[in-house]
Amino acid sequence: MSFAADFKPARVLASPNRGERRSAIDMIVLHYTGMKSGEEALARLTDPTSKVSSHYLVHEDGRVDQLVPEAQRAWHAGLSSWKGITDINSCSIGIEIVNPGHEYGYSDFPDVQIDAVIALCRDIIARRNIPSARVLAHSDIAPARKQDPGEKFPWGRLAAAGIGLWVEPSPIREATTLKPNDRSPQVAELQRALARFGYAADITHLYDQATSEVVTAFQRHFRPARVDGLADRSTVATLQRLLTASSAIA
Ligand SMILES: [Zn+2]
Repeated sequence: MSFAADFKPARVLASPNRGERRSAIDMIVLHYTGMKSGEEALARLTDPTSKVSSHYLVHEDGRVDQLVPEAQRAWHAGLSSWKGITDINSCSIGIEIVNPGHEYGYSDFPDVQIDAVIALCRDIIARRNIPSARVLAHSDIAPARKQDPGEKFPWGRLAAAGIGLWVEPSPIREATTLKPNDRSPQVAELQRALARFGYAADITHLYDQATSEVVTAFQRHFRPARVDGLADRSTVATLQRLLTASSAIA
């Protein structure tokens, strides 16, 4: 495999947790490791009994380990869905970013680590022609199960470097338009907009648990100043702007 001049993995380590792809690569999924240390995460991602892996592991000091060749299918996404596709491992490149996560003391991502994520993503996007709307969080594709890489992840900084779809979040005002247990055509409209964007959202007309989880995932990625699962005006307006931006580049 050849890399652009600005990116080179520090180490190439072989994880046994891999297989053959069943579709072409057109997505990047970003994760945090959610373990106490990078070495602990590396051990798990290369342990044959864990059944998990990723293509890359980005350490806090910016070193990047490659664990699975991009041509192969790494086991990072689990039960997931985006735009109706559920075999996310087959179409994506998975990047694990070392961070203790919400369970062990969620911390800011160091600048040098984000610089490395940016260099790696730019390299992959250029080589693989990944559309900007398909650089996603693990929480986007598995909102009921996953929170990573979480609301501290600097998506805006990545976007400034040309990575991912991003609009400035609409300012937060106090009015809540939609909330749990509401049942209305407006709830169905929100669910339709979330599904059109890519989330696995059923059109139930009821602001149910699943709707709260998808709204929470949306906020973690696109409106991180407040992550509460309530579809306030800012959340809905930000989603509308993203839909407009994604249809403009489609
Ligand atoms: Zn993850």
